[in-house]
Amino acid sequence: MKKFSIVIAGGGSTYTPGIVMTLLKHLDRFPIRQLKLYDNDGARQKVIADACEVILREKAPDINFVATTDPEEGFTDVDFVMAQIRVGKYAMRDKDEKIPLKYGVIGQETCGPGGIAYGLRSIGGVLEIANYMEKYSPNAWMLNYSNPASIVAEATRRLKPNSKILNICDMPVGIQERMAKLAGLNYYNDLEVRYFGLNHFGWWTAVRDKQGNDLMPKIRDYIAEHGYLLPGMNEEPSWKATFGMAKNTFALDPDRFPNTYLQYYLYTKFEAEHMDPNHTRTDEVREGREKFVFSECRRIAKSQSIEGLKFEPDDHSNYIVDLSRAIAYNTHERMLVIVENNGAVANFEPTAMVEVPCVVGANGPERLAMGDIPRFQKGLLEQQVAVEKLAVDAWVEHSYLKLWQALTLSHTVPDAAVAKKILDDLVEANKDFWPELK
Ligand code: NAD
Repeated sequence: MKKFSIVIAGGGSTYTPGIVMTLLKHLDRFPIRQLKLYDNDGARQKVIADACEVILREKAPDINFVATTDPEEGFTDVDFVMAQIRVGKYAMRDKDEKIPLKYGVIGQETCGPGGIAYGLRSIGGVLEIANYMEKYSPNAWMLNYSNPASIVAEATRRLKPNSKILNICDMPVGIQERMAKLAGLNYYNDLEVRYFGLNHFGWWTAVRDKQGNDLMPKIRDYIAEHGYLLPGMNEEPSWKATFGMAKNTFALDPDRFPNTYLQYYLYTKFEAEHMDPNHTRTDEVREGREKFVFSECRRIAKSQSIEGLKFEPDDHSNYIVDLSRAIAYNTHERMLVIVENNGAVANFEPTAMVEVPCVVGANGPERLAMGDIPRFQKGLLEQQVAVEKLAVDAWVEHSYLKLWQALTLSHTVPDAAVAKKILDDLVEANKDFWPELK
C-alpha cells in the first residue's frame, strides 16, 4: 500500500495539532510516510512543531517529521499540501473586525469589509503556496482551508486555472455533524446532501441518510425552534449565538436549511449592534483556542511526553483527511467543494465559484447538478458574487475604485459613503500586505 507524504502549509496554525491527530488515527486507511510543517513564521511554528515531534515519536515513529521555513525543503516530495495560512495573523484579523465596527458595520473574519480586507491579504499568500507546490511537487494536490475561501477560490480560478487546488470549508461539515446528531446518526458523512451557494453563503435543499431516507422532516421542527444549537455542547459565546441564530435565517425560507454565516447578510443590523467593538471574535480565539493550543503544545514539548494529551480529531481535520483519501484512493465520495459553477446551479453565473456537492476521485471533484435556484437566493447570490469578483479585480488591477465598489455592494454596508470611510481605514491598516491601490 502506497504511503503518502504531506505538508501542512501554515504549520503554526491552531488547527495543525488536530490534523496531526486525525492523520494518526487513520493511518490504517490512509498511511503516511512523511509529514512536514511549513510556515513563514519559524518561531510560531516551532511551538507547534516541537509538540508534534513528540506526538509522532510516541505514536508513529516511522513517519519522517520535518518542520521548516524553507519552501524547497517543505514542498519537495509531497503528495498533498494542506494549506491553512492566515496572512497578517490575528493582529490583522483584529483590525478586519474592529475597523468596520467603528462605523457600525459588521466586523467579521470572512464576511463584509473585514472579509474583503482579509481576501486582499490572502490571495498573494495562497498563490505563493500554490507556486511552491507546482515548482517542487508538480503532481501534488493542494487542499486549501485558508480564508476567505470565496475570494481565494475566485483568485485561484482566475490566476491559476490549471492548478490542482481544491478550496474547502469546514462550516457545512460542522453543521451537517449537528444535523446527523439531530437525526440520531453520528457523523457528517452519514448524510447525503444537496446544497448550493457560495462559501459561507449557502443552503441545504436535501438531507438524506445513506439509505436515501429524507431526514428533513425529522429535524425541521428542532431547527425552526433552536437553530443548530444542540444541548450539552460546551461552546464559546459567539458560536452559541451563531448556531442559535440559524432559526431566524431558516424562517426566511422554511424549505431549505441555511448556512450559519447568512446571519450576517440577513440580520445585518442586529448582528452589528450585538458585536462588542472592543472585544470581537479574534479576542475570543486568542483567549480560547490559541491559548489552549499553544499552552498544550508547550506542555507536551517540555515534558517530552504525550501523557494527558488533550488534542483530538475534529470536524475540520476529519474533512481534510477524508478529502485526501478520496483523491488518494479514487473513492468517488460525495463531498462539498468550492468549484467553478459551470452549470451546477443552472440559473446562475457560470464562472462563479460555488459550493456544491461533488464526486471526488483521483482526478479531483466532479460537480453535481443542483438545478435552478429560487429568486430570493439567486438575488442574494448575484450580489455577493459580484462583491467577491470585484475584490479580486481590485487585487489584480490594483484598483481602489473596484474595491470601493466591492464594499459598497456588500449587503453588510449601508452606503457608498460609509464604504469609503471603512475602505480608507483598511487601506492604511493593510499597507504592508495589499498591493498599492491606484
Ligand atoms: P493561525 O494564525 O493560528 O495560523 C496561521 C499560520 O499561517 C500562522 O502560523 C502564520 O505564521 C502562517 N502564515 C501566514 N502567512 C503565511 C505564508 N504566506 N506562508 C506560510 N505561512 C503563513 O490561524 P488559524 O486560526 O489556525 O487559521 C488558519 C487558517 O485556516 C486561516 O486562514 C483561517 O481562516 C482558516 N480556517 C478555515 C476554515 C475553513 O473552513 N475554510 C476553518 C478554520 C480556519
